[in-house]
Amino acid sequence: MNIVDIITKKRLGKILSDEEIGFVIDNYLNGNIKDYQVSSLLMAIVLKGMTDKEIVNLTTHMLNSGERLDLSTLGDVVDKHSTGGVGDKTTLIVAPIVASCGVNVAKMSGRGLGHTGGTIDKLESIPGFNVNLSSEKFFQQVSEIGVAIVSQTNNLVPADKKLYALRDVTGTVESLPLIASSIMSKKIASGAKKLVIDVKVGSGALIKNITDATKLAELMRMIGKNYNIEVVCLITNMDVPLGKNIGNALEVEEAIQVLKGKEKGNLYDVCVELASYMVKLGLNISYKEARKKVLDNIENGKAYDKFLEFVCYQGGDINNLVISNNIYEVKAIRSGYISAIDALALGKLSMSLGAGRYSLEDKIDYGAGIALNKTIGDKVEIGDTLMTLYTNKKLTENLSYTEAFEIVSSIDKNIELIYKVLE
Ligand code: URA
Repeated sequence: MNIVDIITKKRLGKILSDEEIGFVIDNYLNGNIKDYQVSSLLMAIVLKGMTDKEIVNLTTHMLNSGERLDLSTLGDVVDKHSTGGVGDKTTLIVAPIVASCGVNVAKMSGRGLGHTGGTIDKLESIPGFNVNLSSEKFFQQVSEIGVAIVSQTNNLVPADKKLYALRDVTGTVESLPLIASSIMSKKIASGAKKLVIDVKVGSGALIKNITDATKLAELMRMIGKNYNIEVVCLITNMDVPLGKNIGNALEVEEAIQVLKGKEKGNLYDVCVELASYMVKLGLNISYKEARKKVLDNIENGKAYDKFLEFVCYQGGDINNLVISNNIYEVKAIRSGYISAIDALALGKLSMSLGAGRYSLEDKIDYGAGIALNKTIGDKVEIGDTLMTLYTNKKLTENLSYTEAFEIVSSIDKNIELIYKVLE
């Protein structure tokens, strides 16, 4: 077997055998096959695709490259995943809600890279919060309070780590087989047998249209079936940011308001849906019963109490969240109604304010970010504040960030939030 024959075979649109896929993964990890050869193969996969069997085999070889967590002692654990979006702080909200309903959440999360944030960075914006629990502490915490969230270990699917870094710099991220196997290998390695995935679609997401989002959801469910994992996918809107705040500590603040039941809107609605499907899977009850439990526990304060308990167990102190006090207000330069808010533009802006990383070594300013003062459908007059920017950087240039908001003279637009559920 040799890599050039394998690249050629895929370039011609042929099907790779299990052995060939295993040969590539193993020899890429041990350095025998080089980055430039794998880049070429990845591009052939982007262009020619993969069959379901190839996708499952790729997932299996990636999975076998590292450690696998066994959560079976914790009972019916339910995991969640989001394909990534701007202002997506759903895990911070959903995990305590679901745990408060009696379903264990033992979760490994990642850091942000690019314009979408990561749960671990958001949690680390809480002073004292420890995302690196030992495996004993992780299991102990879940069995005592029903929820723990830790940083993905270095040995969780090392093949994906190496491949993803290469895809990122070779224009080969946008391939449904590669995305599905990358996500599912990490989820299977993290040990849950039941999984709810939020597939984000729109300008601020990796996937730009509902057709591709549906195909991705079907692929991930297919992989799950092969591993005896129940996977429910929700396809949700990421044309607009989720909620009002973008940036780490700002997002924690907003999550607290949602958990207290004080903040409603698109973020609250998506969280209620995700949590309802997780509780349905975890307790084997109907969606209707699960949704009632979720809404009750937000209203009666149990979900927020669980959040406080979870943060306290991991050493965090929410009373000392630091938000940058260097503030810039972006004002409307015309009047009308807001018909669109560009999630991608705001994600990039938030990064440039210091809330995200351009490379893995960059340090995050946890207090930086954006608070939206207006949302879709709002009426605005010239001079109204559209959004507030928080940063420790000096913004000297004339602030001209108003392009992120589309302002029209009349509006009949209704934003669809949840496009589809595949279960
Ligand atoms: N998220 C992942 O974990 N992998 C991908 O390939 C894309 C998004």
